[in-house]
Amino acid sequence: MSLSFGHEFLSIPGPSAMPERVLRAMHRASPNIYEGELVDMMPDLEAGLRRVARTDGHVSIYIGNGHAAWEASLANTLSRGDKVLLLTTGRFGPGWGMMARGMGIDVEILDFGTAAPTDAARVEARLRADTGHDIKAVLTVHTDTASSVRNDIPAIRAAMNAAAHPALLMVDCIASLACEPFETDAWGVDVMVAACQKGLMTPAGLAFTFHNDKAAEARKSADLVTPYWDWNPRSAPDMFYQRFCGTAPTHHLYGLREALAILAEEGIENTWARHATLAKAVWAAVDAWAEGGIVAANVTDRAARSIAVTTLRTKGEEATAIRKWTQGFAGVTLGVGLGLEAGGKMATAHGADLFRIGHMGHLNPHALLGTLSVTDAALKALDIPHGDAALSRAAQVIAEAGAGFTA
Ligand SMILES: *Cc1c(COP(=O)(O)O)cnc(C)c1O
Repeated sequence: MSLSFGHEFLSIPGPSAMPERVLRAMHRASPNIYEGELVDMMPDLEAGLRRVARTDGHVSIYIGNGHAAWEASLANTLSRGDKVLLLTTGRFGPGWGMMARGMGIDVEILDFGTAAPTDAARVEARLRADTGHDIKAVLTVHTDTASSVRNDIPAIRAAMNAAAHPALLMVDCIASLACEPFETDAWGVDVMVAACQKGLMTPAGLAFTFHNDKAAEARKSADLVTPYWDWNPRSAPDMFYQRFCGTAPTHHLYGLREALAILAEEGIENTWARHATLAKAVWAAVDAWAEGGIVAANVTDRAARSIAVTTLRTKGEEATAIRKWTQGFAGVTLGVGLGLEAGGKMATAHGADLFRIGHMGHLNPHALLGTLSVTDAALKALDIPHGDAALSRAAQVIAEAGAGFTA
């Protein structure tokens, strides 16, 4: 017997829950791709993306996922044999690095483990030692979705400036864009990559690169660029079809437009604040569960935690049992653990002692508290020792955030 019924709820860190409004915006006949609404809406859509990314720079949209954005960013800025410095704090940095190696780029890894953020002092020391400026780019992930570590991008930029190093700063914001505060221009990020299925609440299928004039300069000598990935026609097309190197991703664009409208109505600072509060509710619950000695947050330092996703560790393989119970019995899908291995290596297996709660995008207290309650019920059903105040503490966080609220 199972109580799973009605809407299943996806609490994984991407794809995230989709707003009905986004789905409805996509429910339509195919539009004309040569003229009319679709063509005319692109400038506003790009402006909306720029607003969310806090940049006046160039935007390119690809039919692809996050991996596509990774490849696009490398192809447009680097040449075969170029060296990059990759900062890893989980699994997604190593993933970007594997793509770079596959493209013939020389990847040097600075590994900060899987539960702590990048140490900017080590970055600065490495860049100072690179007196010949062999390192062409520093690659880092804002929020590593596997470990749920969030990196301090301004500190990394400051380290590069302190070393007076000319490398490009390239940042993966695939998990964090429209969830966590991020300032592409103000933080001196040269290339930022994102995708639509996490904070942007749109079905997977659109990838984005944002680049500034310094990166545009690097594009001129990059020999890895191929016609499909070239960001020049995409960001400054003479003809509409060049934006997508072919047929536009019609329905995704309508969905994305609606998602950007939802974000504009909320206001991006409010979006960030909502994520911060919901994250605190998760952490309050996790800290209470941790009193049982089995479940704990992967990242101890709250300042280094993502506010879009939380990775939890269990002593043994309880994580897998918890996920199976919440999904099978209660219709709530928690995120699988992605294997985390030291040394910047990509683990191939799922981490059976890890699970993740996604708290990104289209999420409110009701939905989040539902996920936390079902997880709490799983701990009870599976006889996994845990502190018993998780739900009241999570509710307390929501209550405190709403203390001054009047209707
Ligand atoms: C999801 C994610 C990716 C990969 O995106 P795909 O769409 O699965 O290719 C890369 N980096 C981060 C930080 C992510 O969260």
